Amino acid sequence: MHDGVAAYVLGVLDDSEHEAFERHLEVCEQCQAELVELAEVPDRLDELKQAPSASEDDPPMSMSR
Ligand SMILES: [Zn+2]
Repeated sequence: MHDGVAAYVLGVLDDSEHEAFERHLEVCEQCQAELVELAEVPDRLDELKQAPSASEDDPPMSMSR
């Protein structure tokens, strides 16, 4: 059942599987933690994409030393 976290995040579960997993999620700290980790991935990707353009405003520390 723990394997359902990724599928749940991707939204590829059947309706019945989706409901079953949500019920499991309420009582499973392991899956809750895994869900949080997976949910953070898109945010990290955005940060990586924004990093190069943001560095143009802030000169790299290695350049000023
Ligand atoms: Zn679980």
